[in-house]
Amino acid sequence: DPRPALIEVAGLSASYGRVAALKPVDLHVAEGEFVTVLGPNGAGKTTLLRAICRLVDGAGRISFRGQDISTLRTHHLARLGIVMVQEGRGLFGEMTVRENLLLGAYGLGNAADEVERRFGQVYALFPNLRQRADQIAASMSGGEQQMLAVGRALMAGPKLLMLDEPSLGLAPRIAAGILDALGALNREGLGILLVEQKAPLALKLAQRVYVLASGSVRAELPAHEIGSHHDLARFYFH
Ligand code: ATP
Repeated sequence: DPRPALIEVAGLSASYGRVAALKPVDLHVAEGEFVTVLGPNGAGKTTLLRAICRLVDGAGRISFRGQDISTLRTHHLARLGIVMVQEGRGLFGEMTVRENLLLGAYGLGNAADEVERRFGQVYALFPNLRQRADQIAASMSGGEQQMLAVGRALMAGPKLLMLDEPSLGLAPRIAAGILDALGALNREGLGILLVEQKAPLALKLAQRVYVLASGSVRAELPAHEIGSHHDLARFYFH
């Protein structure tokens, strides 16, 4: 890839007690690239994203636009623009849509104009959220909650957006709508690292794919080289 690296991960590993969930993994996302990580249940996909943003302890080297960020904490990474949308969404259910979005922008302090500009961007991407700005988050549909989780991450002004199975539990049409929004963000230049089990949806958007199984990268290839689920199985169970 001729584009410079946005994030570069070298020898990143993580364990839970004696369980080596992530064996040393090398991975990168270039500026403006859309990368998908596929893999079966328990492959270590969630752990990979959590180790990158320091929600679990990991060993290894991570650099962001050439800067070593291996020792930075999660909130500092977020300020640099490394933002994760977690599986299960992590919303504040009793708060409104607008309040949840505002929490995503906490790093901006009192920059009211910039906060409003970002509200405008999120509402343009997900018009549903504008209509429901005063609705309690927990009362929304699963798809709307996922939009809110993505919207909240966007409020932080990400340079690299990492998402853990945003399609989980959603009807296919709703999931496709969320992923289409990610495609639009990527076309505007946002770097995306997406973990998905629904391979067909994710492959449509990604430029490059890593296949993770048993905590290791089994393959790295251009998305168009994976034709079907059948192709994937040989990486999962070799
Ligand atoms: P899924 O798609 O099912 O979420 P995954 O690819 O995201 O799977 P991880 O959630 O990263 O996989 O899990 C990798 C391994 O680490 C699994 O064997 C899992 O059981 C184990 N693991 C994950 N979280 C913990 C934890 N908090 N404590 C102990 N083991 C864990």
